[in-house]
Amino acid sequence: MSQVASIGIDAGSTTCKLVAVDHDGGVVGSRLEPTEPRVEIQMRRMLDELRADLGVHGEVPTVATGYGRKLIKEATRNVTEITCHAKGVFRDLGRAGTLIDIGGQDSKVIQVGDDGRPVDFMMNDKCAAGTGRFLEHTAARLGVPVEELGGRALSTNDEESISSTCTVFAESEIISLIARGADLDAILRGLHRSLVGRVVSMVRSVGIVPPLMLSGGVARNEAVRRMIAEATAQDVILPRDPQLMGAYGAALLTCAA
Ligand code: ADP
Repeated sequence: MSQVASIGIDAGSTTCKLVAVDHDGGVVGSRLEPTEPRVEIQMRRMLDELRADLGVHGEVPTVATGYGRKLIKEATRNVTEITCHAKGVFRDLGRAGTLIDIGGQDSKVIQVGDDGRPVDFMMNDKCAAGTGRFLEHTAARLGVPVEELGGRALSTNDEESISSTCTVFAESEIISLIARGADLDAILRGLHRSLVGRVVSMVRSVGIVPPLMLSGGVARNEAVRRMIAEATAQDVILPRDPQLMGAYGAALLTCAA
């Protein structure tokens, strides 16, 4: 018999994630891919591959979350990312507190209660500034791979201030800075500062109940982590695999553990 108790699906705007857990809530398998235009077809394929790899033959409870969650026919339930990220991070870190989730197309600040459920939250899904898209967009324009952005921003103490909070205007500002011969890493540092400024103002609105925790793909960016810590004067702690927390929480929601 397969050890898989349930599977969580996070159909995100930027990446698709799957996490399978055993009856103790331990991760036994996962998948992550950039999101394709037909997310429901992609997820069916990813699920088939994961199930085959883990030797799952019969029905397994499957919960979907993320932007495309309602398109996933294989899911027995669909649940918001707020509940799923809170659940996943609470289980991984074992702490209540203030969770910041920065994904590709939105960012959220979630107060996680003592039972791992969200007690309050704020979400920005209207504007790309303050999300991974803001970084990705400008990274593409500067020809820097997204996984190198944070390291580049931290490689210098010089910083070009980016005053536009809108992605489109920030891009024009960056083009002017480049034309003036500004250092690329200093521009990237300013870009991260701008994103973090957006996120931290949301954190202040919700209020900080320590510890401050970070999830979502942008948590993999070291500069974002450090700048949030600096701006809030708080340590920022991360779960083991921050980008998988939505899918992990979704899987835990139907597993008895
Ligand atoms: P969603 O769930 O909304 O699809 P994710 O939580 O997967 O989004 O986050 C995607 C974002 O994570 C990207 O926009 C990018 O900024 C960031 N990201 C992904 N991989 C990395 C990496 N290796 N290093 C730094 N940032 C990353």
